[in-house]
Amino acid sequence: MTDLDVHFDRYYTYAEMTAALERLVAAHPNLATMSSLAKSFEGRDVWLIEIGNKETRPLDEKPGYYIDGQIHAEEHATSATALYAVFHLLTQYGKDEEVTRLVDTQTFYILPRINPDGAELSLVSPYYNWCGNGRFMPGADRIEGLIPEDIDGDGFIVWMRVPDPKGEWKKDANNPDIMVQRAPGEEGGQYFRMYPEGTIRNYNGVNVPVEKPFDGNMNRNFPTNWSHQEYGAGEHPLSEPEAFGMAKFILAHPNICGMCAYHTHGGIILRPSMTKPDSAMSARDMNLYKEIGKVGTELTGYPTVSIYEEFTPDKSVVRRGGLMDWTYEEMGIISFGTELWDLERTAGVPKEGYYNLYPRNSEIQQKVYDYVKANMAEKGWRDWKSFDHPQLGKVEIGGMVNIWTYRNPPGNLLEEICRQNVLFNLKHAAAAPQVKIEDLSVTPMGADLYKVRAVVGNFGYLPTNLSDVAITNKVAKPVVASITVEGGELAMNPEKVELGNLAGRNERLYPWSPWGQQWTANAKPVEWLVRAPAGATITVTSKSEKGGTQRAVHTIS
Ligand SMILES: [Zn+2]
Repeated sequence: MTDLDVHFDRYYTYAEMTAALERLVAAHPNLATMSSLAKSFEGRDVWLIEIGNKETRPLDEKPGYYIDGQIHAEEHATSATALYAVFHLLTQYGKDEEVTRLVDTQTFYILPRINPDGAELSLVSPYYNWCGNGRFMPGADRIEGLIPEDIDGDGFIVWMRVPDPKGEWKKDANNPDIMVQRAPGEEGGQYFRMYPEGTIRNYNGVNVPVEKPFDGNMNRNFPTNWSHQEYGAGEHPLSEPEAFGMAKFILAHPNICGMCAYHTHGGIILRPSMTKPDSAMSARDMNLYKEIGKVGTELTGYPTVSIYEEFTPDKSVVRRGGLMDWTYEEMGIISFGTELWDLERTAGVPKEGYYNLYPRNSEIQQKVYDYVKANMAEKGWRDWKSFDHPQLGKVEIGGMVNIWTYRNPPGNLLEEICRQNVLFNLKHAAAAPQVKIEDLSVTPMGADLYKVRAVVGNFGYLPTNLSDVAITNKVAKPVVASITVEGGELAMNPEKVELGNLAGRNERLYPWSPWGQQWTANAKPVEWLVRAPAGATITVTSKSEKGGTQRAVHTIS
């Protein structure tokens, strides 16, 4: 694609990704740095790429935008998308207006691969469906039940269909490669149970437990609402080194205004809340999520949905300890999680619901089967073959290779998926508050006295507090205006003035009364009296934790 030799038609190993990042950063030393946030169990670095023009302002004095990928090992398209963000920002700087403006006025923090150990393991045969984060080999921590294993030695972990008169599955009448559910009252056919390919630890000869709690779901390892009952939650919040490294970084960068955490799959943009209905959210926050989400839907075709309302099948069992809960419900940062790639929609299946684990009928399965056989057959499908299982007897092994079908798009579709989603990241980033000194006037009052008046305004879409949650949780910091007089002195009014929060233009979305509404100010004046003989220099600084720091200088002539 370019002389940088970075490609988005394949999935990179850790070494390939590291080398690509090094080439990109080395080619743009004035715009990017690369550092390690944490070491994985197997000793790999979790890379952080910081992007921004340091010549305009120090990076931590600008609004920050955070992107991460591959907290879940099998979600390889997420790492490609985060890498694409690095690639796009660096190679389009100076060419594309939006990229140039954002790199000049904001800071990007990009973590392309949070879980390098799990990612490495799932990239190679036998393509584990769940890899954790290198603390254990898949299944090593389980006491009983199905341990994923490539028992027929063909290089893939797929599915076992086990003949069983009690079984709930049967072969589809038209296509025996497809397994469909047996109807209520249906008798007289050949029936099966289905399990992932593997062996059974501590088998009692009857039951095959499949889902047991195990470690390594780092997206349940964050502090807010953490619960040991979540599968993979870890021993305690932030027990996993990669999650701990991320959390320390996020806390050390309070300028972060927006976040996108990438996952697969589903082709949807997820927004808060994770734990409560929309009716219990701040209406102002919900409206801004919906409005920014609309921009995402336009750019990606992905609907924007609430995790609680539309992505939680059982509302009595909400997800706890996820990253977004911590970053939004606790810190008030505007956070999205995007589930890339929808195999079914791509195969022409109409979308029905967003978290749909129900068994598919033969028509839907046939469409997906046809698409996979035509486009992803090399790694996505294994023909059923009979096999003598040491514990289950005669079985058949084959079917869909989930990681190379449902979980990740084929290489020829990857770049466009990356591009569309990164374009949404840029628009979300650009919604940040932007605090500026819009007017500085210095009026002589006689006898070396001057009245200094500055107007500090927020030019961004979002308010300087980002969200109502940040105010409720008392984490929103006021905008501060301050003055220094070099070669003179301050004669009246305190050196530092707190201006509170400045509104963003999103406030006009809030459906309050359309008449007589008192809006929050988006700009405020501040005045000082200074004694400043000729040659003195007056510096006014506006400082907003989220909206950046700006200085205006006036020299008395
Ligand atoms: Zn995920």
